[in-house]
Amino acid sequence: MTARYIREEHHIFRDAFRKFLEKEAYPYFDEWEKQGIIPREFWRKMGEQGFLCPWVDEQYGGLNADFAYSVVINEELEKVGSSMVGISLHNDIVVPYLAEYGTEEQKRKWLPKCISGEIITAIAMTEPGAGSDLAGIATTAVRDGDYYIVNGQKTFITNGIHADLIIVVCKTDPKAIPPHKGISLLIVERDTPGFTRGRKLEKVGLHAQDTAELFFTDAKVPAENLLGEEGKGFYYLMEKLQQERLIVAIAAQTAAEVIFRLTKYYVKERTAFGKKISQFQTVQFRLAEMATEIELGRTFLDDLIELHMKGENIVTKVSMAKWWITEMAKRVAAESMQLHGGYGYMEEYEIARRYRDIPVSAIYAGTNEVMKMIIAKNLEL
Ligand SMILES: Cc1cc2nc3c(=O)[nH]c(=O)nc-3n(C[C@H](O)[C@H](O)[C@H](O)COP(=O)(O)OP(=O)(O)OC[C@H]3O[C@@H](n4cnc5c(N)ncnc54)[C@H](O)[C@@H]3O)c2cc1C
Repeated sequence: MTARYIREEHHIFRDAFRKFLEKEAYPYFDEWEKQGIIPREFWRKMGEQGFLCPWVDEQYGGLNADFAYSVVINEELEKVGSSMVGISLHNDIVVPYLAEYGTEEQKRKWLPKCISGEIITAIAMTEPGAGSDLAGIATTAVRDGDYYIVNGQKTFITNGIHADLIIVVCKTDPKAIPPHKGISLLIVERDTPGFTRGRKLEKVGLHAQDTAELFFTDAKVPAENLLGEEGKGFYYLMEKLQQERLIVAIAAQTAAEVIFRLTKYYVKERTAFGKKISQFQTVQFRLAEMATEIELGRTFLDDLIELHMKGENIVTKVSMAKWWITEMAKRVAAESMQLHGGYGYMEEYEIARRYRDIPVSAIYAGTNEVMKMIIAKNLEL
């Protein structure tokens, strides 16, 4: 059944986007996985066709598209492969900060290029010494005349190699009490003196996604690159994490649906003991259980997408969806690998890639433990 927020124009858009991906992404995806990066050329093609940040206001070159278009884009990208997550991050996680907290000048300077694919963005919160405990970051930005002097290190940064524009979470007031009140967001551009990139990190999964370390050694960032107000960074992050977690839930739900389809097809093809393995009741029950969980996830998720589109605060529910749907997708992936037998462990079967790609969804955008902390806090226990 189609979700209530999907209308005729979204169906048409989905068909067009799918055709684009069939031509420009599916045939090359395995190669990108081997190379460990998605070429910039693909980003530019996405931009040319209007598939990057279509929600941005028309005055900055966007299409003013509603969030249902973002949902369609995220689902179709995930169907190609989870490594496309960097594009989702750019579209629906990083660029929204610029659009919401940027000055008119910042928006005019950067938004059109984010839409065309000339600029690829990233957000750098995590450091070697601080992930879940964001207020514990050590990167500092000290004002010196017309510049901030930034010192510190970030790690695990999605699009870290490609990024031209990075929102860096840093402390402009390291002595603030409580510490989160000293956090600000600075926009660091590619050629900033004192900014360097480290290794492209070797990961268990998401092989085509470029994830990197970033270093700042007396990096000179123009003061006009402050995003929003000094000391408000933590609040901006809290505000925007709702959509980030929703995007992760959408991707995990889509992955579970893809994995289920692969597995259903496989068990109906594979024969053992003179029967299709789909005819064993134990196999049928496992598929029945997976189908039920996937349906539960989809119903909850579609409901949340609708509420989010109405502008409601869904922080608690989105935390629930993020942990539950990503754990469900992990269960579905593990069960499906088992149902594929030895072939499931072979790279030539898609389930192998899906199996190693899914666990990170329970880790990034706030670990599932952090999700439960938020839910518990809001339960006023
Ligand atoms: C592929 C990938 C891409 C990423 N992309 C980005 C990115 O683009 N930008 C960015 O800033 N970051 C990114 N991250 C970082 C990610 O957000 C962090 O890894 C995550 O927030 C967890 O932080 P950590 O790794 O420091 O783990 P830690 O915070 O050290 O946690 C370790 C374990 O302890 C648990 N834990 C911590 N505190 C508590 C507590 N109070 N109670 C119970 N359990 C607790 C955690 O849940 C986890 O299981 C990415 C990570 C990966 C793997």
